[in-house]
Amino acid sequence: MQTVTMDQAPTTLPIVRSVADLRGVVAGWRKGGLSVALVPTMGALHEGHLSLVRLAKAKADRVIVTLFVNPTQFAPHEDFDTYPRSEAADVALLQEAKCDLLYAPTAEVMYGPGFATSISVSGVSAPLDGLARPHFFGGVATVVAKLLIQAGPDVAIFGEKDYQQLQVIKRMVADLDLPVTILGAPTARAKDGLALSSRNAYLSPAQRKVAGQLNVIMAKAAEAVARGGAISDAESQGYAALLAEGFDRIDYFEFRDATDLSRLGPGPADGEPRLFAAVWLGKTRLIDNRS
Ligand code: AMP
Repeated sequence: MQTVTMDQAPTTLPIVRSVADLRGVVAGWRKGGLSVALVPTMGALHEGHLSLVRLAKAKADRVIVTLFVNPTQFAPHEDFDTYPRSEAADVALLQEAKCDLLYAPTAEVMYGPGFATSISVSGVSAPLDGLARPHFFGGVATVVAKLLIQAGPDVAIFGEKDYQQLQVIKRMVADLDLPVTILGAPTARAKDGLALSSRNAYLSPAQRKVAGQLNVIMAKAAEAVARGGAISDAESQGYAALLAEGFDRIDYFEFRDATDLSRLGPGPADGEPRLFAAVWLGKTRLIDNRS
């Protein structure tokens, strides 16, 4: 196996920052007949990310976590510069989780001079976050395609927390015949039900309290629809409840088909409805979804 740079002493978690080093490590594993799982992240790791690592460990002999805050999925007005970065703490958590390798490339490694290619997944990328953040899924699809091609894993794990992203990636992998199995993992939540997110760190204590109501309001709406209530009623009641609780702005609060994310009719749902929400507290945007 190729020697890798141990530039985070005293940890023993190997870290690589170039495609050649990554491929060297994976080639060594492959020679030994080992299977490989990939868990892409933007760092600022929390229990949600670690639950993905645990699933990855159950699915493959070796686990690679990637850490890359991908500039191309942020619009100029978004939070790329302030996005939480904590590599030393991330390394400690990954070490404890018995991750086998951290791949943390630089922007120069990912987007070399003259970089000009992008992957666009139509259909499932269009609604919800595709409308609210038009640049987003192109950036995600391109960087995830690169990470999959760079590492060549057997399986890659993504959270249902970002459900639309998971569907976009599944579509891309099927369409491009990428030889990898994409698995979704359930959303890890705080005690009050708020989906764990690196962006929760932006919330003030008062905003954090309000944030806990998102999951409560979503659960009520989903239960009403499961009982046969009209989708349009559940959506408008949910909207009103969010504003009454103190959320500042709502990008969407919508039931959609769980597979293709198409809009459902206003009446009782048929098929498999899934509720999607994106809401703002001050400058912080929170997303969540549930069946
Ligand atoms: P991020 O670092 O936010 O890009 O997330 C990296 C991966 O972790 C993505 O596949 C996310 O869907 C997943 N993830 C983020 N938060 C959670 C959570 N609370 N539960 C499960 N997976 C999550």
